Amino acid sequence: MKFSLKNKIAVITGGGSGIGKAISKTLAEQGAQVHILELNVDNAELTKKEISDSGGVAFVYQCDVTDQTHVKTVITSIQEKKAIDILINNAGIAHVGNVEKTTEDDLDRIYRVNVKGVYNCIFSVIPFMKKKGGVIINMASVASTVGVSDRFAYSMSKGAVLTMTYSIAKDYVTEGIRCNCISPARVHTPFVDGFIKNNYPGEEEQMFEKLSKTQPIGRMGLPEEVANLALYLCSDEASFITGTDFPIDGGFIKLNG
Ligand code: NAD
Repeated sequence: MKFSLKNKIAVITGGGSGIGKAISKTLAEQGAQVHILELNVDNAELTKKEISDSGGVAFVYQCDVTDQTHVKTVITSIQEKKAIDILINNAGIAHVGNVEKTTEDDLDRIYRVNVKGVYNCIFSVIPFMKKKGGVIINMASVASTVGVSDRFAYSMSKGAVLTMTYSIAKDYVTEGIRCNCISPARVHTPFVDGFIKNNYPGEEEQMFEKLSKTQPIGRMGLPEEVANLALYLCSDEASFITGTDFPIDGGFIKLNG
């Protein structure tokens, strides 16, 4: 079977919701044993249940990716049972606002989760992956390369995810570690619903329409569409791919303007 992940051990951050949930389920369907690191453990348990109900194997760890000591402990405990093959750095948070509307606290919060969280997981997994190779996929965004308007802190953080990807890919190419990132445009998840609700109260429907149309294809992406790309990138079929950013954006980057 192509794209088989049989016997692979995959660590996925933020697997309790949206894109991370879809990736967890897709990788488990292909035979991976999935380890979900989540702040929201109740949601992660629901993902785990859906995976077990379909015959897959998943484990849940309550873990805040901003806490390096805890991330290291959790990743080491997984590795001690069986070597980790795949790390998906998916956990991330949003912030709306230009630079004038971004407080120091906003910037620090976005940095801690979206940048330091990715670093913490890579930092913890690399010493193990160096021994037998592996795959790292980081969830970047179209904001990484174009800088989305009114998303100053978020765009900054996703730019950092893109360049961390290039840096890791270069430093560890000879150790058999492949590192790539995925850059979605708007994908319909609780992340999108949440920021529309918080930032555009009373205008939810109009905002949803507006955000759908920013993709030339006329809609938002689906978490499963991103998950299928992640599956390809972590499969052996993608063994010649490293140090690359993969937009999945309904034409957002190339067809707008
Ligand atoms: P989501 O909010 O639906 O899910 C994110 C999950 O991450 C949540 O379950 C949350 O509990 C978890 N999380 C947040 N902070 C955490 C922390 N400190 N430690 C551990 N877990 C934490 O989001 P989503 O839309 O599925 O987005 C997933 C990723 O994709 C994010 O990195 C996001 O920036 C990126 N992305 C999303 C879109 C989109 O339109 N949805 C577009 C481009 C990129």
